[in-house]
Amino acid sequence: MTSIPEENAEFDMLVKSKFPGAISNRELESKVVSILSDMGLAPGKTLLATSLCCDELARSLENDLNEVYGHNFNLGGLAGFPFAGTTGFGAMAAHVPDNGYCFLVHAPHVGITRDGVIGKVERSGIALVDKCCGSAISASNYLKSITDGGAEITTKIQQFSDFQQGAVQQLILPFGKRLNDAEDRMKELPYALYDSQDILVRDIISTGSGRIKKGLALLGGIQINTSPETFDYFHPLRFDFYDENGEVVEDLLPRLKVRFL
Ligand SMILES: [Zn+2]
Repeated sequence: MTSIPEENAEFDMLVKSKFPGAISNRELESKVVSILSDMGLAPGKTLLATSLCCDELARSLENDLNEVYGHNFNLGGLAGFPFAGTTGFGAMAAHVPDNGYCFLVHAPHVGITRDGVIGKVERSGIALVDKCCGSAISASNYLKSITDGGAEITTKIQQFSDFQQGAVQQLILPFGKRLNDAEDRMKELPYALYDSQDILVRDIISTGSGRIKKGLALLGGIQINTSPETFDYFHPLRFDFYDENGEVVEDLLPRLKVRFL
């Protein structure tokens, strides 16, 4: 059984200094549920859909939202990319309650250790403090082997047995210069992946817009995973409300930034 993390003011400051704009999952969830409730997206009328990494650390946020909205429709795969695609979105949209809404959350994720190292995280029961997100970092290393030289010359095409990682490696290719120029490659990596995912998610929603029932709220950002003793964090980058025609009619992000009283 996992224990519930305690408030840790010092670590909270550390995370927020590394990721300006990040808020704890607890704060995010309270605000999001309240904002969505005001918009009419009540539990029972709302289907939760997620596109988050396969990593079990990505489940904390999902589990908390499951407690409010019930089981989620999973659109995501490695690194949080929406691998279920337009077919998955269409199926999900058909499962939204009649006259109801979809709440879609998508995010790549990144670890931060107790002492502030980005791209790694402590895990319960594992002594090795290893990389997080593993898929994203492997893809970043692959990209670096191309931009810096050393990539293996091969005649092999992608294998179906690892097609998601093959796709992540393709999708990261446009970011070679951006990642090489970054002050901290591990910090830039999730933001680069977010930009790629944002394009995909916009495309998928646009293709499936005719299937949106009463509306769709979309929350996109970066999941920040921390050691088992502390809260996870989320840097919200987009919180839009789409109407039944698939048009963004309200930017909810400013409402997330209002301080809790
Ligand atoms: Zn991951």
